[in-house]
Amino acid sequence: MDVIATIQEMQERSDKLRAAGRTIALVPTMGFLHEGHLELMRAGKQHADELIISIFVNPTQFGPGEDVDRYPRDTKGDLQKARSVGVDVVFMPSAEEMYPDRFQTRVQVEDLPHHLCGLSRPGHFDGVATVVAKLFNITRPHLAVFGQKDYQQLAVISRMVMDLNMDIRILGVPTVREPDGLAMSSRNSYLSPEERRSALGLKKSIDLANELLRTGERRAKTITDAVRSLILSHPFTDIDYVALCDPVTLETLDALEEETLLALAVRVGKTRLIDNCLLRKASDQ
Ligand code: AMP
Repeated sequence: MDVIATIQEMQERSDKLRAAGRTIALVPTMGFLHEGHLELMRAGKQHADELIISIFVNPTQFGPGEDVDRYPRDTKGDLQKARSVGVDVVFMPSAEEMYPDRFQTRVQVEDLPHHLCGLSRPGHFDGVATVVAKLFNITRPHLAVFGQKDYQQLAVISRMVMDLNMDIRILGVPTVREPDGLAMSSRNSYLSPEERRSALGLKKSIDLANELLRTGERRAKTITDAVRSLILSHPFTDIDYVALCDPVTLETLDALEEETLLALAVRVGKTRLIDNCLLRKASDQ
């Protein structure tokens, strides 16, 4: 496994691989790898000859007062984990390499960021779209793998790829959870044991929504009210949003459709956690 820090070396490597007829999968990450990330890597490995991952805590997707400086890092552990799933190349640039002086270009997806996380994190998805576009140009993948846990991010990237005619297949991988249901996240490491218990309210509330759907409930407000009060019954929780929305446009719905996205963002103590689930009427029974 090679670790590459410069854009030029990474582009040359990818060009060589492509010239040799090898297909490339990219898994972009911010490091502090967990089983969720590794699942994305396994999927990438399955669908391509060469697996590149990037580890880069992208400063432009963090707002003022967000956790860019205290974002957890563990390079040594990350490299071990990457090696264990057969990663071929780790691209690990510095912030200066990615954003040199006079950098001034931004990729902006117009509508999708005006919902869910985009409302409380203005500019976040511009930062995400821009860095992912750069990573695509640097690693030149045929396929890029993203987690469905960050549903809105996956939607924004898919839109960008379609709108800008990027010749890259986007693969979404289902959310990997801890045995008790908590969605894996690098940010879970911030939680105290008491907060960790309260964080279970997110998955429990998703289960409750599915249960209400099974019993025939279709009114969005009834479901979001039930989800909210279950979450808030756990200490240290503060809801950013609980939304039922169209899975494609992310617009809020009053009543459930064939497929409806339930999306949650909850602060547990100081840690902001997200989770989501596609509610399907067809899976009622
Ligand atoms: P991050 O390092 O948090 O930026 O995440 C890198 C990639 O891993 C993104 O595509 C995330 O959606 C994905 N990811 C993070 N947590 C999980 C999880 N629990 N299950 C599946 N994918 C995940």
